[in-house]
Amino acid sequence: MTDTLTPVLSDNWDHDRAWTLESYERAGGYSALRKAVRRQPAEIVELVKDSGLRGRGGAGFPTGMKWGFVPQDTESPEGGKPKYLVVNADESEPGTCKDIPLMLASPHTLVEGTIISSYAIRANHAFIYVRGEVLHVVRRMQRAVEEAYLAGYLGKNILGSGYDLDVVVHVGAGAYICGEETALLDSLEGRRGQPRLRPPFPAVAGLYACPTVINNVESIASVPCIVDNGPDWFGSMGTEKSKGMTLYSLSGHVTRPGQYEAPLGITLRELLDLAGGVREGRMLKFWTPGGSSTPLLTAEHLDIPLDYEGVAEAGSMLGTKALQIFDDSTCVVRAVLRWTEFYKHESCGKCTPCREGTWWLVQVLERLERGQGSEEDLDTLLDLCDNILGRSFCALGDGATSPITSSIQYFRDEYLAHLEQGGCPFDAEAASLFATAGAMA
Ligand code: SF4
Repeated sequence: MTDTLTPVLSDNWDHDRAWTLESYERAGGYSALRKAVRRQPAEIVELVKDSGLRGRGGAGFPTGMKWGFVPQDTESPEGGKPKYLVVNADESEPGTCKDIPLMLASPHTLVEGTIISSYAIRANHAFIYVRGEVLHVVRRMQRAVEEAYLAGYLGKNILGSGYDLDVVVHVGAGAYICGEETALLDSLEGRRGQPRLRPPFPAVAGLYACPTVINNVESIASVPCIVDNGPDWFGSMGTEKSKGMTLYSLSGHVTRPGQYEAPLGITLRELLDLAGGVREGRMLKFWTPGGSSTPLLTAEHLDIPLDYEGVAEAGSMLGTKALQIFDDSTCVVRAVLRWTEFYKHESCGKCTPCREGTWWLVQVLERLERGQGSEEDLDTLLDLCDNILGRSFCALGDGATSPITSSIQYFRDEYLAHLEQGGCPFDAEAASLFATAGAMA
């Protein structure tokens, strides 16, 4: 972080024992909840709508608008049912590492956001669905929820407002597909996590067939500061259509990897300046703007604004803002093969294009990477991608094609070099470097 960027979400992360209720309250925590329960739930929905907050989990859908879809007319069959808030904390996209640090550093930011958001949609039960592998995060969230109950922020008659809320920290079993909101709901109901057909949408028939809002951790954690400071304050950051600040994760060949909080619309060049640049002696080769399911970009795109519109205009997606940086020592074919193996493994198997298609993608990529394929294989790969993209049941299938099509677009010559050299040219380069080092020793 630089002095020119004022952290909001990560402001208290360096405080002494920032994850405790005592530390959070010392930093002004739960003041937004006190303000929120003095207002009508519908006013909170309007306030979040006015702020322009868009979902931080990848899709960028306006958060307040999503809340507004929950039927509140108690006379109608849907409006009369219980309502649920589900926080999607199943962060699993390769390269994405923002929700887990947020929950570890300041779990009460998420708990406070969960209470205010549940109040806004008139839910009396909320679930925080955390991926099972991160047991240390699960424990921290459970402890924060316990502290909030003891302090009267959860349970019956919260802060004397007459509002009741119970929060359950639910531990997932570790499947990437459970980050897809309807698969997450199936998993939460105790079934195998597979996406559901929509409509009906979760806002009308979600958890236990009741109206449900599902939001990402960072979206919900952004709510207290909006209630505290107002929608105009939030809208003063970011760009015209992508408002506010956000957490960017920088990983890979970068000098200081980590989470960088900045207004939406910052460029990768600026973020790299904050992170000490690409590792010494190397040049940027390619990068993902929002995890491995977003099309790759190159050094040509260092100055595009990292907001929803700017990244889309460059032919990719902002996604989860997981900026994976690869320097010129990286074989793009091997990196893409590795990601594709991941998608093949995580395909839930419900639909044929993704289940069969990702298997075939791996077969073709493996032989190309070994230098044993032919130029025709590139057309086969593109044809396969064409038959998966837009024909799969959920976004996992589409996402699996993104690194392949974009890498062929920008690095076709590198694929061909594998065929010409009968193997990975980077292996040959590494072998010659080792041989030189050995001769000098
Ligand atoms: Fe399952 Fe893949 Fe089809 Fe999604 S696209 S439903 S993950 S098989």
